[in-house]
Amino acid sequence: MFESLSDRLEGAFKTLKGESKLTEINIAQSVKEIRRALVAADVNYKIAKEFTDKVKDKALGQENVLKAVRPGELMVKIVMDELVELMGGQAAGINLNGSPTVILIAGLQGSGKTTFSGKLSLFLKEKRKKKPLLVACDVYRPAAINQINVLGEQVGVPVYTEPENKNPVEIALKAIAHAQETNRDVVIVDTAGRLSIDEAMMKEIANIKEAIQPNETLFVVDSMTGQDAVNTAKAFNDVINYDGVVLTKLDGDTRGGAALSVKYTVGKPIKFVSTGEQMDTLDVFYPDRMAQRILG
Ligand code: GDP
Repeated sequence: MFESLSDRLEGAFKTLKGESKLTEINIAQSVKEIRRALVAADVNYKIAKEFTDKVKDKALGQENVLKAVRPGELMVKIVMDELVELMGGQAAGINLNGSPTVILIAGLQGSGKTTFSGKLSLFLKEKRKKKPLLVACDVYRPAAINQINVLGEQVGVPVYTEPENKNPVEIALKAIAHAQETNRDVVIVDTAGRLSIDEAMMKEIANIKEAIQPNETLFVVDSMTGQDAVNTAKAFNDVINYDGVVLTKLDGDTRGGAALSVKYTVGKPIKFVSTGEQMDTLDVFYPDRMAQRILG
């Protein structure tokens, strides 16, 4: 994960190798490399600049300080703290209030919504001892119903579908009633996406949200799409004001830009990361652990 970013950052710290203390000159050199590393990882230039300005200020505060710690290590610590901050500081939990708890899943087609819905249901069942119900609200692709049925079977979670019904709001509302009748305490509503943002999709997801008043709305985005991921995240948030982001396909050759920029750009935390096609490849997102992985 993020190998190229990690390598480049390591290179930036290496410029401080052999130095006995941080100086204005070696800080400037190192900071420039850090900025390049971020931009190469698909972090928007403005965010990268602001980030490195902060790092620079903090490093200058340590200038000429002769400590037992080497300048390279000092810089790593400063960058680590700033990365954690950039990614949201604390881990953000999900709201499991409500009876049942209703969780709405939104995102573009192919982003990994259905796969994530299956994973989340397994996570809630195993780790939170919940009794989830999966709901298929993609009324456009018959294959979507089949897909979620297969996943439900795989993770041992019931799936609510209405193959003949083309009204997702109605399906979602009936599913919630069904959950109450059958004693399921979390309803995960998987919705339809399009290949790119369009008005009809936005209207549909906004209507569903308005009708079912979810306790938690999660936006799913493919991290491989780089800066587009961040733009899509912004467009969805403007319409449905979601509670958190799910980054998928972090197991692929993703550069890291989305993970680093989403919180800054949209103001919403990343809550989960998905790292594979198997149902158990879901992790709660911890900014400090991610920063640690990036810095090796
Ligand atoms: P949806 O259209 O948003 O519901 O997307 P799907 O859940 O159908 O996922 C699209 C494709 O991406 C499928 O082939 C999934 O197996 C794959 N996929 C989803 N999440 C991940 C992930 O975290 N890593 C990898 N490698 N593939 C994923």
